[in-house]
Amino acid sequence: MSKPATEDLNLYHIAKAQFDAAVPFTTKLEGWRGLAEWLFRPERMVEVTLPVEMDDGYVHTFTGYRVLHDSSRGPGKGGIRFHPSVTEDEVTALATWMTWKCALADVPFGGAKGGVRCDPPTLSVREKRRITRRYIAALGDSIGPHRDIPAPDLYTDAQTMAWVYDTYSMMHPGKNNLAAVTGKPLDLGGSEGREAATATGLLLVIQHLIAVGGLPGFNGLNGVTVAIQGFGNVGNHCARLFSQAGAAVVAVSDVAGGIFDPNGLDIARVEVHAKETGSVVQLPGTKPLATNEVLEVPCAILIPAAIETQITAENAPRVQAAVVVEGANGPTTPGADEILQQRGITVVPDILANPGGVVVSYFEWVQNLANTSWADEEVARLLEEKMRRATDVVLATRARLVDGFERYQAAWAAVRPDDPPLPRPTLRIAAHVAALERCRRVAESRGVWP
Ligand code: NAD
Repeated sequence: MSKPATEDLNLYHIAKAQFDAAVPFTTKLEGWRGLAEWLFRPERMVEVTLPVEMDDGYVHTFTGYRVLHDSSRGPGKGGIRFHPSVTEDEVTALATWMTWKCALADVPFGGAKGGVRCDPPTLSVREKRRITRRYIAALGDSIGPHRDIPAPDLYTDAQTMAWVYDTYSMMHPGKNNLAAVTGKPLDLGGSEGREAATATGLLLVIQHLIAVGGLPGFNGLNGVTVAIQGFGNVGNHCARLFSQAGAAVVAVSDVAGGIFDPNGLDIARVEVHAKETGSVVQLPGTKPLATNEVLEVPCAILIPAAIETQITAENAPRVQAAVVVEGANGPTTPGADEILQQRGITVVPDILANPGGVVVSYFEWVQNLANTSWADEEVARLLEEKMRRATDVVLATRARLVDGFERYQAAWAAVRPDDPPLPRPTLRIAAHVAALERCRRVAESRGVWP
């Protein structure tokens, strides 16, 4: 897909633009001089060089990062991704969003993220294991149960987390190290519900939004058409869960392309086909889609669940959904946000739509620290409670911002007379404001050390 040269797709700049849009609506953030900058800047950034012997004997030198954005609400929490696009800016943006996400979901963590720049489909399992071990060894005590706790993300999974645990545990013998990483296999201290948690949480948010009238025009999910970009952890589970909830999943895609059936795909069939062939493409009886065409099919709900900056100013005019629900982190650029808003398309932002994974990771961490395990039903009940509360907080915040819009506008114009008029409060702005206000209250009550 060609993207306009004028649009800035740097993820850190996108995170900053989203933050800046929320600041004028955030009580006292500008009043306490310098607090906004402190809240936005990352706390610690680690870059590591990883020499790894490949299967053919060649020593490939990889680069890895781990960024702790903020630890004022608790230890860092965030995934590890393996992807060719991994850069310091990308990881920092993702760590920043984790801070807002943990604050909004009300789990006692700060934001963190890590990644290794590599191309997973070209790696063997043994090479992936060696990269993971070398990366975790290089991070040393930057991570740990009370410092920063990794989890799965793009192209990493429960198996990767088992290697993370094993490496960390070999380096810290004689302790219960289970809480050093979440998203582990069930047999190794993983939690019930973690595998599908992000998708489950996303579905709960949409169901709750519909129930409280937060998505005008929707009465339920029965027969509602859904298109999903990405068929990995988030995308696959979303397809299955939305389909089980009565929706018609008309299109899904992965890195190789997409498939479309206006009557709704049989997700169980898609899963079998993807398992057998490695991709969803060419499922008999479906219409093929080019890689990003899935974003433009007619549907009520579009779920980008692959990678960032997929809905841009270039393709946003062609999105045909009524609602975009961000399963991925940062899939919509600020330029696209503006266009979608003008076109009356609601965007349910990543920090509200996809914290289910970190919420159940929090449950896993609590279970690990107590050396216990909870039943599936208990995890499901607590997850539902957290997702509903986060949704209610965002809706209440948006109502407050809409009601007080003229006041916020006037107050901001008084401080920054040269700034353009404030944007109309969206769910993304409201979610950021709610999260920032939680972080601000913590910063205020703890004070600036020393
Ligand atoms: P995954 O590695 O399990 O799956 C990624 C999927 O996206 C695969 O189907 C892959 O083929 C597809 N994909 C990759 N590049 C693509 C492209 N250019 N176009 C179309 N499809 C492409 O990853 P995941 O864990 O499902 O994560 C997906 C997104 O959700 C990421 O943005 C991640 O940060 C975010 N996320 C994941 C979790 C989690 O718990 N795993 C939690 C919150 C957010």
